Amino acid sequence: MRKVSLSLALCLFAVAASAQQPDFSKVEIKVTKVAGTVYMLQGYGGNIGVCVGDDGILIVDDQFAPLAEKIKAALKGITDKPVKFVLNTHWHFDHTGGNAYFGETAPIIAQENTRKRLESGGNIKAFGMEVPPAPKAALPVVTFADKVTVHINGEDIRAIHFPNGHTDGDIVVFFPQSNVVHMGDDFFSGMFPFIDLDSGGSVQGLIADIAQIIPMLPPDVKVIPGHGPLSNLDDLKKFEDMLRGSSAAVAAAMKQGKTLDQMKKEKVLANYADWGKGMLNADRFTEILYNDLSGKKTGAFLKHN
Ligand SMILES: [Zn+2]
Repeated sequence: MRKVSLSLALCLFAVAASAQQPDFSKVEIKVTKVAGTVYMLQGYGGNIGVCVGDDGILIVDDQFAPLAEKIKAALKGITDKPVKFVLNTHWHFDHTGGNAYFGETAPIIAQENTRKRLESGGNIKAFGMEVPPAPKAALPVVTFADKVTVHINGEDIRAIHFPNGHTDGDIVVFFPQSNVVHMGDDFFSGMFPFIDLDSGGSVQGLIADIAQIIPMLPPDVKVIPGHGPLSNLDDLKKFEDMLRGSSAAVAAAMKQGKTLDQMKKEKVLANYADWGKGMLNADRFTEILYNDLSGKKTGAFLKHN
């Protein structure tokens, strides 16, 4: 297992195996008003949810450390109020890279597995990566098992843990007054998702989580995905259908005794070709489905039980 630099790791996450290094100086932060108190920021890495109002700012995720100043400037364009709280949807570095920066003045809140994994670092073998332990300044200081509510800007922001989806520490963040939900990486809109089997993630778990989340959402809810454009309930339902359908296709091929290589060659996910244009192509997602269904982790989990 080699250690990889942040920039290489970044590429692996963002464009899956491109050797090109991203240039953070060229990244622009796009600000979108979602509804009510909620905005979405897009730069490089996971989408950031923002709640603004008289009490200050709460952000959901914070992308990469080199973008922190730009993120701060984008927030300044919305309001002069300070950042009061940071929520981490899960431990991946494209969502928590700004923690040390924003954590200096605002407490970071996360599910307890997120803090554990940040603290110890870990392997993301699907990308051949070993992520080093995060410095103390980047660790969440408030953790919870199941759910927490933050009352700010007239909003009762509910962060709820759904077990074993994209990882084992994912939270979904509901903004009930503004009718918005931030799904974290439990939702990649319009593309095959990366599901981190080495961090306690599970395709079948994710399907069960989404089946539980959908009935909790009003039909006209605005949905911020971890990756991809601002979405709606229909987009989330399509994602659920794709997960079920592609998982069933791989399960059927396994039942016929097909190997992973055969499945790739025969394009077992051909019905879902459009979903392969984002972060992962159909072969990579077939691999994740196969590993999940056969109970194989993509790699040994070195630092967690
Ligand atoms: Zn992630």
